[in-house]
Amino acid sequence: MSSSVVSRPVTGLPEYVGDGIYLHVDGERFVDCASGTFNVSLGYSTPEIIDALHGQLDRVAHLSSEFTRAKSAEIFELMRPELPPQIGAFWFRDITGSGANEAAIRIAQKATGRSDIFSLFLSHHGQTVGTTGISGNAFRNRSFSLPFAHSVKIPGPDCANCFYGQVPGSCAMMCARRLEDFVEYASSGQVAALVVEPVMGNGGNIVPPPDYYRVLRETCDRLGILIIADEVQTGFGRTGSFFASTGYAAGLRPDIITFAKGAGGVGIPVAGVLMRPELDVLESWEHSSTSGANPLALVALEETVRYIRDRGVLGNVTAAGARLHRGLLALSRTFRDMTGVRGVGLMQAFDLPTSVDVEQFIALGRRHGLILRGSRYGFGRAVKVRPPLIITGEQVDDLLDRLHATLQSFQKEATRP
Ligand code: PMP
Repeated sequence: MSSSVVSRPVTGLPEYVGDGIYLHVDGERFVDCASGTFNVSLGYSTPEIIDALHGQLDRVAHLSSEFTRAKSAEIFELMRPELPPQIGAFWFRDITGSGANEAAIRIAQKATGRSDIFSLFLSHHGQTVGTTGISGNAFRNRSFSLPFAHSVKIPGPDCANCFYGQVPGSCAMMCARRLEDFVEYASSGQVAALVVEPVMGNGGNIVPPPDYYRVLRETCDRLGILIIADEVQTGFGRTGSFFASTGYAAGLRPDIITFAKGAGGVGIPVAGVLMRPELDVLESWEHSSTSGANPLALVALEETVRYIRDRGVLGNVTAAGARLHRGLLALSRTFRDMTGVRGVGLMQAFDLPTSVDVEQFIALGRRHGLILRGSRYGFGRAVKVRPPLIITGEQVDDLLDRLHATLQSFQKEATRP
């Protein structure tokens, strides 16, 4: 047997130490409002997961997926009570959200025999050639020629900037209904699936009205289009239910769900696809990667599911998320530059006047012990507030105090043209 982990010399990045919701950098403590890269869902140091990973590392770090198939099936059964009832099959051969989304595209195309993939303006589905090609932002595509011949983007449910110039309540959910026009006039008529983030994460934490999901589902049913819920950000408890599509976005009733990010609990890369049983059409050689379903990924996934289930994580997200939301609203009443507070569970955000302001605000936040991220890789106006799902009520209050101090500094120091 190998020697114990603690006796090994410290190598790697010794200046960084994670502790629950905190990241210590050179001894200075920060509340991580970005949960790493929105993936450290259960905090940096959850012992149940870390210990299980150490135990696995001491036995074997890699196995071909041929040897891990049974374990994947076992974990799927463990997840099953948390899944929407229509889901009955899985494909755990990825460790990135991009890979999982590409698997979902393959599944949709093979199962339907159709080519086109619809997605939304402002969407983000990954950084591979395929997933960049279906993401709805020019800045990601500008420098390349990334061919995804069958991609059609349609306006999304961004009520604050409605593409159709409508206002919520009287819009008849035009953005969902007019999908039909895009099928008729902008596609090949052979539409396999629509990919949708239940809450649009990178695009600016855009929360659709709940009715959007129902109308979208009805429209897709009428047109025979599958719905792929990209729950890479919203999955594994982030919005207060196991998936957004088992809670806030239940009306979506997705045919396929993709997940990654928070599924690894402490930041271990793991990703997968969940689907209706009749969509389980891929052969093993049609979509996989070297590290897909590797033992560390599966251990992290299994322990994350158990932890969420056994430790009341979803209830905590709902309570802490409501506290955070209320606190953000209160701050926005004091600071007029802070607008558009929105979010579900611990997926919250607010707007500042410009993307330059967001950049300055994030830098000021560091001075007050906060790690924050903006939207659209610096091109957006949203500041995202998404701490790990284990944050306590007192820690939420501490986070809000630090935001208050950051807003005060911002008022004093923001450079304005
Ligand atoms: N989908 C969504 C909604 C995402 O936010 C991301 C990553 N930010 C991805 C897919 C891609 O995941 P990955 O970076 O693991 O490939």
